[in-house]
Amino acid sequence: IFNFSAGPATLPLPVLEQVQAELLDWRGAGMGVMEMSHRDKEFMSIAADCERDMREVLNIPANYKVLFMQGGATEQFALVPQNLLRGKTSADYIVTGEWGKKAHKEMANHGRANLAATSEASKFTDIPDRAQWKLDPDAAFVHITSNETIHGVEFPDAPDVGSVPLVSDMSSSFASRPLDVSKYGLIYAGAQKNIGPAGLTVVIVRDDLIGQVTPGTFNIHNYKSVFDNDSMLNTPPTFAWYVCGLVFKWIKDQGGLVAIGERNARKAAALYDYLDSQDFYRNPVAKPVRSKMNVPFVLANTELDADFLKGAKAAGLPGLKGHRIVGGMRASIYNAMPEEGVAALISYMKEFARTHG
Ligand code: PLP
Repeated sequence: IFNFSAGPATLPLPVLEQVQAELLDWRGAGMGVMEMSHRDKEFMSIAADCERDMREVLNIPANYKVLFMQGGATEQFALVPQNLLRGKTSADYIVTGEWGKKAHKEMANHGRANLAATSEASKFTDIPDRAQWKLDPDAAFVHITSNETIHGVEFPDAPDVGSVPLVSDMSSSFASRPLDVSKYGLIYAGAQKNIGPAGLTVVIVRDDLIGQVTPGTFNIHNYKSVFDNDSMLNTPPTFAWYVCGLVFKWIKDQGGLVAIGERNARKAAALYDYLDSQDFYRNPVAKPVRSKMNVPFVLANTELDADFLKGAKAAGLPGLKGHRIVGGMRASIYNAMPEEGVAALISYMKEFARTHG
């Protein structure tokens, strides 16, 4: 089957096969990774390899820390202001979908949450023109959501926000194409879409931005404490961390992010080209900001939605139901989705349109 779920999502088959082979006995250790102490040298090597490969694949500059955390991107909605306000009182939010809206709402618990731009009026089918953003030069940071998973809207590049640190929720586009980390002050992502199972959250942060938490912040939420303890201030999600390491090795085997990005672009282009070529299905997002990871679409006749989903599941194409907020369908085509999966989906869509049009 080809699993189009938005997350937790499909993992690369070679990674799953390696996990299966090592499940009961990790490389002669006599036990699997799930049963290992995070303090054992075996796990320490797994953790170090994961960070080394991630740094290599993403070309992360030396002055950026990589933190392996828990609590999902949702917890980062709160931890980012707690760690990055640094005595300032406000931050700017560019809201291009439901996840950015949630991040912006959480900011209001920590200081002034300036809504510098939003595309809510267009039902989040576009990204507001950069020239229209009402940025505050005194803001502690500018927050964006690089890829809005529900609406299928993606920033083509890091926007220029001057010297104020740019923070991005990259949960659904992390490691999907080459990335210039140096354009960001902080990047965070839940693992469960492109880089591993649920339970692990990756934070990449420029080192001069940490160590000045809002008074009252719990130690476990302090990026500097997490870093000083090698992301092992408490028991980390060891199994997810291990699988994440295997995914980064797989990305290297695929030819790195250039090759991965090209393949993702081909997959998305095939699907959008088909969507734009007929009127049985429709994608509402403005072309320059269409997501390469999540492709939402609606059927012109929504009475056919249930039949479409039932037939897709029977054809080995599960996970296509759109988010309840927008309805319709959504094909999530993360790194692990092969091109054949997208081709199979397009064939199914064509056949469904032919028999129901
Ligand atoms: N941000 C984005 C862009 C997401 O897609 C999601 C989940 O789908 C979240 C945040 C929430 O992530 P989590 O469930 O890991 O807290």
